Amino acid sequence: NGGMVMKRLEDYVRSIPDFPEEGIIFRDITSVLQDADGLALAIDSMQKCLEEMDVDVIVGTESRGFIFGVPIAYNLHKPFVPVRKKGKLPCETISEEYDLEYGSSVIEMHKDSIKPGQKVAIVDDLIATGGTVEAAVKMVEKLGGEVVKIVFLMELAGLHGRDRLKGYQVESVIRYE
Ligand code: AMP
Repeated sequence: NGGMVMKRLEDYVRSIPDFPEEGIIFRDITSVLQDADGLALAIDSMQKCLEEMDVDVIVGTESRGFIFGVPIAYNLHKPFVPVRKKGKLPCETISEEYDLEYGSSVIEMHKDSIKPGQKVAIVDDLIATGGTVEAAVKMVEKLGGEVVKIVFLMELAGLHGRDRLKGYQVESVIRYE
């Protein structure tokens, strides 16, 4: 490629200090998505984590988990199931509450979205405390699904979110200390 150096995925991520509040380094993926090569590299890298795995369903969490989850599901020709914030899903739901830094939040899934025994891969953009995905795992299991893999584009390793997901196969493409 004419001496051009290939950009790595982490080069596409924009890091914004003190957003949304002081002390947080926000890992912005819009800069990944708005570059065709960055977008392809992100999807391909995450999808690679599911290579040669027996997966029936891709589950993604609102909202950045949708961005990455749907193209992966489409490529693998598997169904996609959204985990949504409370009050968005129109049919019968199951819900799970989880803690945020201040207060708590509730996420939901449709009861008929996972069939007992289905093998599920959960996809999200980033693991911080792991609270969101832990809640998603609980719901999938209540519906009888088996979580066979959890894939993140980014991992904030210093927050030890992985500790909440012990016993599960967790993989992230980019790791920040
Ligand atoms: P968690 O604490 O693992 O439940 O994080 C929940 C969600 O918050 C992640 O999926 C991200 O979308 C978002 N998030 C948390 N920390 C950051 C950060 N430093 N930069 C960008 N997004 C973040």
